[in-house]
Amino acid sequence: MAESILNFGQQLVRWYHAHKRDLPWRNVDNPYLIWLSEVILQQTRVVQGLPYYEKFAAAYPTVVDLAAASEQEVLRLWQGLGYYSRARNMHATARTIAEQYGGEFPDNYSDLLQLKGIGPYTAAAIASFAYNEPVAVVDGNVYRVLARLYGITDDISSHKGKQFFAKYAQQLLQESLPSVEPSVYNQAIMEFGAIHCTPAAPACNTCPFKQYCYAYTNEMQAQLPVKEKKIKTKQRNFIYFLFDYEGQILVKERMRGDIWQGLYDFPMVEEKEGAPIVSSELIRQTYEQILPLLPLQNLAAGTLVNGLPLQIAGISGTYKHQLTHQSLLVQFVHLKVIAAEFWQQISGAGFLSVSQAVLEELPKPVLLANYLQEYFF
Ligand code: SF4
Repeated sequence: MAESILNFGQQLVRWYHAHKRDLPWRNVDNPYLIWLSEVILQQTRVVQGLPYYEKFAAAYPTVVDLAAASEQEVLRLWQGLGYYSRARNMHATARTIAEQYGGEFPDNYSDLLQLKGIGPYTAAAIASFAYNEPVAVVDGNVYRVLARLYGITDDISSHKGKQFFAKYAQQLLQESLPSVEPSVYNQAIMEFGAIHCTPAAPACNTCPFKQYCYAYTNEMQAQLPVKEKKIKTKQRNFIYFLFDYEGQILVKERMRGDIWQGLYDFPMVEEKEGAPIVSSELIRQTYEQILPLLPLQNLAAGTLVNGLPLQIAGISGTYKHQLTHQSLLVQFVHLKVIAAEFWQQISGAGFLSVSQAVLEELPKPVLLANYLQEYFF
């Protein structure tokens, strides 16, 4: 491991003032807005997160406003950002702050850590940016900068590695005091990792630390930081069915414990054997799987899908959707129901029947919203 760098904090802060991006949550000491930006930016790039931050800050200027919103409104505004548990936790935390803390954020790291959905990183960000408490933030950018600069080879996905980095980052911040402000130092190190010492193309040639940098000296930029655990992604194939009776659509709310909890989607079937091929037989099997077997003999005759009073109105192309551990291939089948009795039976079977206008407003996984935009509305 490399030696410590003289005046590291001061040099870093100098770099920051010369190069930082102008972002709306910079130079803000309102803990609510800081928290909002941090929650939105977790696992999200700034360009993608920025419009969401602006939407949320405009719709809910204070934590009390956010607490007063319904979960459905919050999820609808969050739609497209993914990781919906973040939105639900954020909303629950806003309610806790409104109800138990009189609408005021706790003003220190350890009290912030007690709140649901606020982990060490977010607590450090709020405590330092809003209250200037000297607690070091450690996010992916900080791991990368420290690992490369100081040649730290501990695995950042291991518990031991995380502990080591947290301790090291804290020590560096302490060493830089009092000549730097904790709030500025923390923002500086994250910004340096985000735009200068980037994962794939660090700008070493113009780096103020290149003469001290372990990774640069040893040509190890690509090997650092060390991350052993590879996330295995699983391929899954879904077919969604949009049952439509005279403009009424069948939807279902995703339940507790589900990654899409609180969002609405359509009846769906998973094809285990590979990419699905939509056929009349598949629709029949799906129907039997996802909806109860209903007495069909009394139903009005019409164009039938394999014996069911359904007409295929359209089959979408295949949508790809990437989740953290899953890669989804999804197709949508739009089915027109052509018998009122049949509709009454299926819409009473644990599903909700909604109009197109309501469907448009409901929070949905983004791939459903994309499909509806492209094929339906
Ligand atoms: S020299 Fe390169 S690898 Fe080292 S800190 Fe600077 S940008 Fe990162």
